[in-house]
Amino acid sequence: MRALTEVTDAELQAAVTARGGQAFQARQVAHWVWKHGVVDFAAMRNVPQRLREALAADFTVRGAALAKADDADDGTQKLLARLADGETVECVIIPDGDRTTLCVSSQVGCPVACVFCASGMFGVRRNLTAGEIVEQVLLARSRLPDGRQLTNLVVMGMGEPMLNLDALLPALQRIHDPHGIGMGARRITVSTSGYPRQMERFAAADPSYNLAVSLHTADDTLRKQLVPTASAPVREIVAAAHRYFGQKGREVTYEVVLLEGRNDRPQDAQALVETLGALPCTVNLIPWNPVEELARDRGLRRPSSPRVDAFAEALRQGGLKVTVRRQRGADRSAACGQLRLRHLDAAGG
Ligand code: SF4
Repeated sequence: MRALTEVTDAELQAAVTARGGQAFQARQVAHWVWKHGVVDFAAMRNVPQRLREALAADFTVRGAALAKADDADDGTQKLLARLADGETVECVIIPDGDRTTLCVSSQVGCPVACVFCASGMFGVRRNLTAGEIVEQVLLARSRLPDGRQLTNLVVMGMGEPMLNLDALLPALQRIHDPHGIGMGARRITVSTSGYPRQMERFAAADPSYNLAVSLHTADDTLRKQLVPTASAPVREIVAAAHRYFGQKGREVTYEVVLLEGRNDRPQDAQALVETLGALPCTVNLIPWNPVEELARDRGLRRPSSPRVDAFAEALRQGGLKVTVRRQRGADRSAACGQLRLRHLDAAGG
């Protein structure tokens, strides 16, 4: 059965009228789905019972359900959603002062295989549908304490968003739509590991979202080691990102996951300065969140705070704007993909 989160407004209206309802009742149903976040037709009180039953015969309200939640002491919540076919994906709620950011996934697993990432360990299993992307927002919203609202969305969880634009763009539209979730486009950021052709298509989307590029290094040889599937040269990725800036007027953020001795050396900082120094951008440094299996098997280490500070300072000296992401939810399943990894372990893979 199809979930209502997968149908367009026009499809919902057709479904309602085909069952004897009226167009305004389709809007009422949509309001229950997106604004009230109900999971059951029975909860749609102002919709006639006969119509609710007729819809329930062919649709579910949602396709996913919460499989597991991990709450960290700092308020970070990692949620594992079980999809209709039994696959699982993660999303993470990150409260920070007045802001509450949700990080969502765009694929089950990830084909990019970054050397430091748990999500990439087993490749990609499939793309998420538009409804499965938006349902992560509904799921997270229902887990917020009273008085908290989701203020920001980042598409930075499992998966490479640019490889699933067919689902991502309608999902973002729904998240942005005032009759849907209603989040301002300026509060939505999509992160890519760099696919210039797809970035062009993303740039054509209306409205304009923020773009972040997980660059990790400005050196092509080193990037091949860190992001083995990356085929586009750094200069092409940076050129595509700055065309995005030219078209949208949105400054691009470059993400750099720092690994001790791999990409946090003075020459690595220098290469970033030479590549990005003259461009309007911010570099966000993310000291690696250790994943036990990867630390053991690949000899990866999180850099010490003084090393991170020295790297940040070298970038600033080179004229770059720099932020350093502090560790959140570090006490449990901290790194990207780990909640799912443990779940797979527990389930026997
Ligand atoms: S860091 Fe992101 S792009 Fe890289 S493997 Fe993990 S999920 Fe994929």
